[in-house]
Amino acid sequence: GYRSRASYKLLELDAKDALFKPGMTVIDLGAAPGGWSQVAADKVGTKGCVVASDLLEIDTLAGVTFVQGDFTEMDVLERILAALEGRRVDLVMSDMAPNMSGMAAIDQPQAMYLVELALDLARQTLSPGGRFLAKVFQGEGFDAYLKELRSSFRKVTTRKPEASRARSREVYLFAEGFHG
Ligand code: SAM
Repeated sequence: GYRSRASYKLLELDAKDALFKPGMTVIDLGAAPGGWSQVAADKVGTKGCVVASDLLEIDTLAGVTFVQGDFTEMDVLERILAALEGRRVDLVMSDMAPNMSGMAAIDQPQAMYLVELALDLARQTLSPGGRFLAKVFQGEGFDAYLKELRSSFRKVTTRKPEASRARSREVYLFAEGFHG
């Protein structure tokens, strides 16, 4: 079984966009408790590689190298880069979401900051043609972020999986064709 309901969202996105191929190198940000990592490790197989990270610890998963810590801290970024052991990355995905206070003026900038950092990491590590998938909340900063994605990728698609609650402001942005 899967560790979280989030797995079903990723399976839905994969069914639509064929995110994974055997042998791929994938970074999974905001990975706890590990639902997305399970799906990714399964799909990339033993020749692939999954590097996952979260604030919270996760139980060990076969085929997944895990880095625990706050992604806004420089040393966590460095430990993720080190775990890649020089591999170029095919897919960077982020399901990170800050702890919501319920106040949009606080939550939205924090959420945007996390996806900004995820995009920075993607720009540093993706191979040409690489892909990026991120959970983003609609609101202040969303349009600017979309524009930024469009400047680095050939194509950007907005996805709202069935498994994502209808009324929530979360959507997934899928960007393909990384060109720096
Ligand atoms: N994709 C996961 C799965 O399939 O099990 C679920 C992810 S959950 C919706 C969001 C995660 O983002 C939480 O585990 C949370 O700890 C993490 N997160 C929030 N802020 C973070 C930060 N600053 N650094 C790292 N992870 C963070």
